[in-house]
Amino acid sequence: MASVHIHDVRKSFGGFEVLHGVTVPIEDGEFVVLVGPSGCGKSTLLRMLAGLEKISSGTISIGDRVVNDVQPKERDIAMVFQNYALYPHMTVAKNMGFSLKLRDAPQDEIDKLVHRAAGILALTPLLDRYPRQLSGGQRQRVAMGRAIVRDPQVFLFDEPLSNLDAKLRVAMRTEIKELHQRLKTTTVYVTHDQIEAMTMADKIVVMHDGIVEQMGSPLELYDHPDNRFVAGFIGSPA
Ligand code: ADP
Ligand code: MG
Repeated sequence: MASVHIHDVRKSFGGFEVLHGVTVPIEDGEFVVLVGPSGCGKSTLLRMLAGLEKISSGTISIGDRVVNDVQPKERDIAMVFQNYALYPHMTVAKNMGFSLKLRDAPQDEIDKLVHRAAGILALTPLLDRYPRQLSGGQRQRVAMGRAIVRDPQVFLFDEPLSNLDAKLRVAMRTEIKELHQRLKTTTVYVTHDQIEAMTMADKIVVMHDGIVEQMGSPLELYDHPDNRFVAGFIGSPA
């Protein structure tokens, strides 16, 4: 587990600035939801946390370490994407162990960690299946299994539920929250869905056109929105 500090971060693509100095403090073990309309810069910010995108200016630290120039695999984080691409030719167990294998972990250690993660996510009976033999929800759990297997300091989620149907989305929301209550891993979760933000977050960060409009607990934002944008965005039904 670790705190994460995003300080005055800017990002430009080809001279066009899409993030205009974003500052977000994240406490150890906190579940933070970045929410805002499509195109406001949520994924870009998350990709910079992951090290997949370079920061134009500002700093990002994980724990006490400034990670601006640290390669993705040297950051102790795991990311779950919207299109949770599993390797089709690998079993669930192989999919889950792959990142450990890349890091040259010994096979018995990989087996142990995969079984532990599978136990947490109720995936043990599915370990020998292939992705095509799984339902959408099961695939999503395998994608989470891949993330938790290394026991990273930080989890990043980018709209992980947007490809699922409404009923499954509600179930997975609960599952992700339970996982967080159990592991207490610092989590940054991106969504454009207000309901998801309101029900899952310890702290919500409302973004709009590359800036942070407001951050606070779901109740604070609901009761005391700083401006019309926040009021409209948080107050309106999905
Ligand atoms: P969100 O995830 O909130 O929908 P994004 O972070 O994907 O928003 O995008 C923010 C803005 O940055 C958008 O205007 C998008 O078109 C632009 N953008 C994102 N990635 C790139 C890129 N690789 N090159 C150029 N523009 C990009
Ligand atoms: Mg996005």
